Amino acid sequence: MQSKNTRHFSDERFKINTEEMLKDLEELINTPSVVGFYPEIHKKLAKIVGKMGYEIEYDNKRTAYVRVPGIDSSKTVCVGAHLDTIGLQVRHVMENGWIEVKNLGGINFHNVEGENVYIHTRNGKTFEGMVICKSHSVHVFDDARSRERDINNEAILLDADVNSAQDVYDLGIENGDLISVEPRFKRTKSGFIKSRHIDDKAMVVAAIEVLRQLKQNDLKPAFNTLFAFPIYEEIGHGGAYVPSEVSEYVSLDIGLIGPDNHGSEKLVSIGASDHYSPYDWGLTTHLINLAKENQIEYCVDTFYRFGSDATAAIRSGNNVMPAVFGVGCMNSHGYERTSIHAIEECARLTLAYVLNK
Ligand SMILES: [Zn+2]
Repeated sequence: MQSKNTRHFSDERFKINTEEMLKDLEELINTPSVVGFYPEIHKKLAKIVGKMGYEIEYDNKRTAYVRVPGIDSSKTVCVGAHLDTIGLQVRHVMENGWIEVKNLGGINFHNVEGENVYIHTRNGKTFEGMVICKSHSVHVFDDARSRERDINNEAILLDADVNSAQDVYDLGIENGDLISVEPRFKRTKSGFIKSRHIDDKAMVVAAIEVLRQLKQNDLKPAFNTLFAFPIYEEIGHGGAYVPSEVSEYVSLDIGLIGPDNHGSEKLVSIGASDHYSPYDWGLTTHLINLAKENQIEYCVDTFYRFGSDATAAIRSGNNVMPAVFGVGCMNSHGYERTSIHAIEECARLTLAYVLNK
């Protein structure tokens, strides 16, 4: 049975299922999953991996896992891609019915102003609205352009016939409701994907593609592999809990593009460090070598205002080696863009990592 588990990764049979991957991507991007809002995205993820024959499980902090037994069960490695996206939460409703918010994760209000949003209430209803600056019109306010864009100066205008705070609360909206931002998925003819949520759904589908490849080719990973899908990365603690059997935590998360970076929308960015710590020297070198051996287009960068679930894991004291890689993402935490090619390359590097010792 030698042939069944041969690790010739450049083999034709490992061709990435691009169309299926992008179908998953559009579906997951269009499923709201603002930080901590797991009900809908868990259902969707369970449906996608369930069709392939995988079981899904959850821990108490709502991280979803798919466990895949390895050829060698002497260790367990973890590949993590976060389900959550940046978003907002209802803070307070003003007397005129405008909704004030707090941000969940690194929202940039300059970028989100004018965008449609969805308010998810605890009784399962969804209401639409849009983000406005309190000085919302250049025809009316001297400071419409200059007013600072932050949580104190921005609000949500509800698409409902409301004129007072009581009107809004009467609809069933309450302080603490979670708010997702219009995802605006778009696939261009030139090979790019644009959406507010390239981070991190592009990498979630790269992980899913690896699960698909394992089934298609009837392969086992080299080691027991735990695919983890946390829901609190954007506020810093998605990977804070790691099951104790895990010894390596590879975060699949976006790479940065900027003056100090080699990163681009066409490349896999392998992170050598972030704002908190260098990533594990040996594991990162291993990933770089796998990229080289498999002719994967990659670069290595240090990340500045960035963290990942792998660093969340070490920050909270887990005994794991952290690493990170992902698609180069333009305009991150705004209306983001990456290339289909980079998502494919990330899936290939993930597969190479999972299949090789
Ligand atoms: Zn991310």
